[in-house]
Amino acid sequence: MTAATQDSAISPPARKPSRLARLRVDYAAIQENWRFFKKRAPSAAVAAVVKADAYGLGAVGAARALAQAGARTFFTATLAEAQIARRALGEGPQIFVLNGPSEADAAEYGEAKLIPVLNSLAQIKLWGGRGPAALHIDTGMNRLGIGPEELPHAAVALKGAGLSLLMSHLACSSDLKHAMNAVQLQRFKDAATLFPKAPLSLSATGGTLIGPDYHFDLVRVGIGLYGSGGLDADNPALAAAATLDAPILQVRDVEAGEAFGYGATFTAPKKMRTATVALGYADGYLRSLSGRGYGVLGGGKRPILGRISMDLIIIDVTGCAEAQPGAMVEFLGPNAPLDDIAALAGTASYEILTTLAGTVRKTGARA
Ligand SMILES: *Cc1c(COP(=O)(O)O)cnc(C)c1O
Repeated sequence: MTAATQDSAISPPARKPSRLARLRVDYAAIQENWRFFKKRAPSAAVAAVVKADAYGLGAVGAARALAQAGARTFFTATLAEAQIARRALGEGPQIFVLNGPSEADAAEYGEAKLIPVLNSLAQIKLWGGRGPAALHIDTGMNRLGIGPEELPHAAVALKGAGLSLLMSHLACSSDLKHAMNAVQLQRFKDAATLFPKAPLSLSATGGTLIGPDYHFDLVRVGIGLYGSGGLDADNPALAAAATLDAPILQVRDVEAGEAFGYGATFTAPKKMRTATVALGYADGYLRSLSGRGYGVLGGGKRPILGRISMDLIIIDVTGCAEAQPGAMVEFLGPNAPLDDIAALAGTASYEILTTLAGTVRKTGARA
């Protein structure tokens, strides 16, 4: 939020919610999804990943709901996120920081009992055994973590330090059948022999769904809690944690041959009724959904016509009696599933959620 909008003297008058797009977070759905993963991995701790403000859905609300459902371990990407999670959760739960400590912030972990994930020999040295830590080993993603040739050095450097967790991360687990999964599994098992006492964690959402071989002591579930991830037809759908809807501003009857929106990229092939909706890419609704996405109204999918504008979308509401000014159209939620919208946008569900974050107003049952 900019300084200008925080200043009550110059902020615009509050508008009626019915004129705005809104993102609603269903914390009960997040809890239901956590229980789904707990059933899938009954022998493991199911940790909740709440980085990036719980994938845009609000870390404080999500973390509290997840703790209530039974989560005892949490992961954030950054120290600042972990400090917020600690304030939300109180003393009990374990909170790991995936990016690990830097020179500037290593001293701050202790105050809030946060556990860094050490991702390099440099971070091991920097941490210097000043408290509990996790070790991240790279088994093929080449992103973060100790590489195979550095492993023996890490084992020596950490000797006697008592790791809270030994973890790695799968590169391809959104495809449950990808050959890379088994390769990384074997490398992880081999590396773990160097750290015989450490609890083990390999899998995020995708790996958890592959099966018990991938569960070890703890799984780190993120996107699955928020309603998406690697589910094939045999798996029940996860509950939708986020619902985006937006109001119709105008309804128009148009003749065949009329064109719509910037670039006139869509022309009516016949007489049509259209609705202009108060949602656009400024709300984080991706412009790549132009001519591809849909809203749901009156029990039917209403295709997006032409280009998405900054604050407006045009949809086809021909034959839809519910299409009236003020009616709310669902663009993401139980009837417009996250994975479906992500596929139409040509991106990942992760990006759909985090792009909506902070741009659409969020309201939730327990914000
Ligand atoms: C983001 C992340 C997770 C969670 O991944 P999902 O696919 O959202 O379940 C787990 N572990 C690490 C290291 C991550 O970066």
